[in-house]
Amino acid sequence: MTDGGAGRPGGSPAGPAPVLVSACLAGVACRYDGRAKTDPRVVEEVEAGRALPRCAEVLGGLGIPRPPAEIVGGDGFDVLDGRARVVTADGRDVTEAFVRGARGVADEAAQLGVARAVLQDRSPSCGCTSVYDGTHSGALADGAGVLAAALIRRGIDVEAGPDGPARAGS
Ligand code: SF4
Repeated sequence: MTDGGAGRPGGSPAGPAPVLVSACLAGVACRYDGRAKTDPRVVEEVEAGRALPRCAEVLGGLGIPRPPAEIVGGDGFDVLDGRARVVTADGRDVTEAFVRGARGVADEAAQLGVARAVLQDRSPSCGCTSVYDGTHSGALADGAGVLAAALIRRGIDVEAGPDGPARAGS
């Protein structure tokens, strides 16, 4: 898997719907810094066909590596509603790519009947309980990332994967 688990359809075995997982947890080097955040349990689930790895940021058109980004002015729900933006550390507005990727992944998950997602917390896309607060200072704020918000709005449960420093930009 070299595209973020990200781009290609598939990973949707017959039988029960898979669990959506952050591609970086499945060993895909798709984080902003070009690295993965591999969790062997997630890799095992993907290899068994029970989990579907996706990276919303790569699917939204962002590269690997990419500048770290944070949500400014709210959380993922606010971004989806146009009340907050996603901005890189060097000041570029990447909101459109984040929303495009999040909606694409959430639409696919809904079509496949996915009921649950295990995501990398703190990421501006995949964060479930907290995200960086938009100051690029390392400070956290309660809230969901853009993908997590899009999934929740489709009735999909989200939960944080193994804890770890998912520095801004995921
Ligand atoms: S945490 Fe970031 S790098 Fe990992 S899957 Fe989510 S968007 Fe992609």
